[in-house]
Amino acid sequence: MSAIFHRQIRTTLPQAVSASGLYITDTAGKKYLDACGGAAVSCLGHNHPDVIAAMAAQMAQLDYAHTSFFTTRVAEELADTLIANAPAGMSHVYLVSGGSEAMEAALKMARQYFVEIGEPQRKHFIARRQSYHGNTLGALAVGGNAWRRAQFEPLLIDVTHVSPCYEYRDRLPTETTQQYGQRLVMELEAELLRLGPDKVIGICVEPVVGATLGAVPAVPGYFKAMRALCDRYGVLLIADEVMCGMGRTGTLHAVEQESMVPDLMAVAKGLGGGYQAIGAVLAQRKIHDVFAHGSGQFMHGHTYIGHPVACAAALEVQRILQREHLVEASRVHGLALQRKLQAAFSRHPHVGDIRGRGLFQAIELVADRQSKQPFAPQLQLNARIREQAMARGLMVYAMGGTIDGRQGDHILLAPPFIVEDRDLDAIVTRLADAVDAALAALPSAMAA
Ligand code: PMP
Repeated sequence: MSAIFHRQIRTTLPQAVSASGLYITDTAGKKYLDACGGAAVSCLGHNHPDVIAAMAAQMAQLDYAHTSFFTTRVAEELADTLIANAPAGMSHVYLVSGGSEAMEAALKMARQYFVEIGEPQRKHFIARRQSYHGNTLGALAVGGNAWRRAQFEPLLIDVTHVSPCYEYRDRLPTETTQQYGQRLVMELEAELLRLGPDKVIGICVEPVVGATLGAVPAVPGYFKAMRALCDRYGVLLIADEVMCGMGRTGTLHAVEQESMVPDLMAVAKGLGGGYQAIGAVLAQRKIHDVFAHGSGQFMHGHTYIGHPVACAAALEVQRILQREHLVEASRVHGLALQRKLQAAFSRHPHVGDIRGRGLFQAIELVADRQSKQPFAPQLQLNARIREQAMARGLMVYAMGGTIDGRQGDHILLAPPFIVEDRDLDAIVTRLADAVDAALAALPSAMAA
């Protein structure tokens, strides 16, 4: 009997013993092709010797120095690297140890900003349904994922949620894509006005929705209009690029494809590529300067922020991405992956949508393509596909869950940027087999 308290308490998982490149190996010697980078984390693949060497060298030189006492060269270099490549106007980086921590820090930074400029009445956040921002209480509160929130609701700060930009399901047949985007921005403005625009701190968005829906980009113009709205009402725009950022969508930051510059941006996963637990908040100069000229401190902090070994890993990961042009590889291989998914699934009776950007691609399963009727939630089709994929030595990120009373089954692919064309073929072939095997094994009475 193992003493470990796993998330899925009754599930027996294979034990991973080693990893290299695109593959993780278990105790039985079985190799799993990591087609989702774990949770869109591994951008470089596993066991990169240069990252390991950078971490070992850092560990040998300086294992740990608490950030209340010291700064470190490696943390400074990482921050400089991130700012050199950041969206316009971003000038400072606050380092943390993961995605939820990055969102918590961003929410608190946004609130403190308004307290410092004499607008303490601002206390509301607006976010979107079917979004995920992390599992700590603040991040969970902005997340719009009903089933994750349900039992914690009484403990969550008050956040209102508006519609996501989810064209496949929500654009009306009578609307153009542009009209759909405009309708959503009008809904957002109505919510701002209802709350009182001078009571709102910020709007939190995933530029490409990840963990809840699987790689859903917004329609053109939507984020640009959202930015204009934030400017009109003096509200901060907080971009959560924890999953979609750091090259995953084919540009270093997903917002680059939206002509939109956020006030605060959270990054994590691909920042350290899985080699260490690290995240960051990138902030506009105006926010940093208010703190610098005001109270002189951000009222926040954790013991392990700016850990030198985590910074060394992230710095090396980012150097390799640049040196080997891997963000461009994510874009190019992403286009190839999308073509292969189209070839395999565009006529599949139970694949309703194929979408994504860069090496961040997903398929959405439906019982009926015409009506877009999802499969019954209790079938847990996504979990069945995941199981069939694992049996075939393929890791995919499967998700579902009741969202606003709607169930969807989504399979996300987010392989490391080092994939080759033949790896993409293996991913799509195994996934197609897994989907068909899972569908064939559904209890027929419940299939729709
Ligand atoms: N935000 C987004 C968009 C995410 O996808 C995730 C993780 N899936 C988080 C925040 C939370 O990150 P972490 O799991 O590192 O706390």
